[in-house]
Amino acid sequence: MENTPHVILVGAGAQQFAVENGFTLESVELSEDAKKAYAEWLKKSEYKPVINIENKKQNGPFAPNFFDDGTANHDTMGLVAMDAMGNLSGAVTTSGMAFKLHGRVGDSPIIGAGLFVDNEIGAATSSGTGEEVIRICGTHLVVEFMRQGYSPEMACKKAVQRIVKRDKEKAKTLQVGFLAMNKKGQYGAYAIQKGFVFSVKSNNENQIHQSKYLL
Ligand code: ASP
Repeated sequence: MENTPHVILVGAGAQQFAVENGFTLESVELSEDAKKAYAEWLKKSEYKPVINIENKKQNGPFAPNFFDDGTANHDTMGLVAMDAMGNLSGAVTTSGMAFKLHGRVGDSPIIGAGLFVDNEIGAATSSGTGEEVIRICGTHLVVEFMRQGYSPEMACKKAVQRIVKRDKEKAKTLQVGFLAMNKKGQYGAYAIQKGFVFSVKSNNENQIHQSKYLL
């Protein structure tokens, strides 16, 4: 974004740009454990993310992305922050989801889906099934709700409601969580299901919170 007129590059072009700018191309061979997990998954070939699997089992040879039983984990880490001058920023990092189609793009790299920051209003990030977040432009929506005057928690709740309203049955099998902070430094989160956890660090607080949830 600083050295080209573009905001996003993908696939072969992104790889070419990275190599030209000093990144080393590395092998992406699967480990033996991951190969086994993949062979197991192929038996049914179901793309079926498991809700909050990171809370169910934290270890195993394939952690953090694969578990002994071949199920897929998700692991997006989103961060929103305010500095001493009151400026907002955000970041999101993910390895995406296991057992997806080659070429699948999740929410995390898409500004307005997995992350959105408007320094006048607030910042938001998301975790969970990226497809559902992309469908509603999730974090952009959260920031727009804050612009309308909703608290960060209420803004996150309204975005979660938007996902659930699209398909209530499907939503029962999914997890999506949003985390937001507004220009006053107030924060909040909301998820579809129980189990979305976030932590807060400030001059007054250093604590892990369980987010509220809809279903
Ligand atoms: N949001 C990520 C994705 O859909 C998955 C995750 O939460 O780990 O790619």
